[in-house]
Amino acid sequence: MQWQKDIDLTHKNSFGFPAIADHFAEVDQIEDLESVLDSVEKNGWPLLILGGGSNLVLREKIPGAVLSVATQGLNILADNEHTAIIEVGAGENWHGFITQLLQKGLHGLENLALIPGSVGAAPVQNIGAYGVEIADCFHSLTAYDRINKELVQLGKDECQFGYRDSLFKSDAKGRYIIWTVRFSLSTVFTPKIGYKGISDHLDALGIVEPSAYQVYQAVCDIRMGKLPLPTELGNAGSFFENPIVTESTYQRLKAQFPDIVAYPDKAGHFKLAAGWLIDRAGWKGCRVGEVGVYDKQALVLVNYGQGLATDLLKLAEDISLSVKNQFDVKLKIEPRIYPE
Ligand code: FAD
Ligand code: NAP
Repeated sequence: MQWQKDIDLTHKNSFGFPAIADHFAEVDQIEDLESVLDSVEKNGWPLLILGGGSNLVLREKIPGAVLSVATQGLNILADNEHTAIIEVGAGENWHGFITQLLQKGLHGLENLALIPGSVGAAPVQNIGAYGVEIADCFHSLTAYDRINKELVQLGKDECQFGYRDSLFKSDAKGRYIIWTVRFSLSTVFTPKIGYKGISDHLDALGIVEPSAYQVYQAVCDIRMGKLPLPTELGNAGSFFENPIVTESTYQRLKAQFPDIVAYPDKAGHFKLAAGWLIDRAGWKGCRVGEVGVYDKQALVLVNYGQGLATDLLKLAEDISLSVKNQFDVKLKIEPRIYPE
């Protein structure tokens, strides 16, 4: 297995930031994975696992090695009248996978249509949208454990899924290379259309009892109308996480800003819409040189073409500071910054 040297990653990250990787390899066989990991270890290189690059902020020079997992395929491992367990390669495109499930009549993940990136990255931040997250249908995954140097199976509890969070983002960051992912899906469709964005869209079309296809299509249409296409305007989706605050903080904010957008969570805390905070702080549509805040959704930071990670991180810092000053709420960046 050969490393490619000085590889340009500009078109492998959705911000389109210029970035050169010292060494790059793509693997879909375990023997090749073991061989490249061996040379990573021998050379003492830092290692980045790269999927579709849609949740990353890459700096210009990427030292060490970048590895892309290209495992493909979708297999039904078990099925009965009501459920099926599906195994899918980490290198498959997420939206393509969702579309295949729809064609097979397997349900539960329709609300996650059109999320960019790979299947292998989906468990990393427990991707979610419109009231569904992958943890809802997750069965287990196979990953390569870089510490014990073996393939392991991790079940749902072991993955420690939280709100846009998991073991892979926190306790075991960098330890596991996700190889295949298994989902438990239903043959019976139960629409989850509690989000106003979806229900308003379906209402406008006069759809009362939507089919799986209609929910999938509604999600695609809403997203296409609201989010910039990375190929046209560089971005990584939401740039900040929605802050979770205590009830007393929420009450303080609500008294000061009666129109604040917030939702109670199961633990008795409140999730604040970060986009509302940024919008109210006056940032929506602002452009600073080659980077800026998207004019249709303040939570999305964009690269107009010639921007660099440093420009974007400076803008993010200024936004965070002004939100902190105005609301006394701390924003946390969602995408991974690499090198950190
Ligand atoms: P990358 O950006 O390449 O990597 C992300 C992280 O996962 C990195 O830490 C990387 O090292 C790690 N990783 C990648 N592959 C593996 C692997 N095989 N094994 C171990 N670690 C791995 N996210 C949401 O949750 N909900 C949304 O609705 C949503 N909408 C988006 C809309 C747009 C327009 C964009 C640009 C992004 C959006 N995102 C959303 C963020 C992003 O699409 C997801 O986080 C996605 O899962 C990232 O996949 P990726 O393959 O591009 O990962
Ligand atoms: P939106 O519908 O305008 O809603 C704004 C915020 O309010 C969202 O962040 C959402 O939280 C929350 N919200 C709305 N209705 C809710 C409800 N009924 N219950 C609980 N929370 C509710 O958001 P949007 O920006 O257009 O995005 C739509 C969906 O796509 C959201 O779920 C969002 O997370 C997802 N998305 C994620 C990314 C990313 O990169 N992470 C990018 C684009 C879109 P949640 O975010 O917790 O759902």
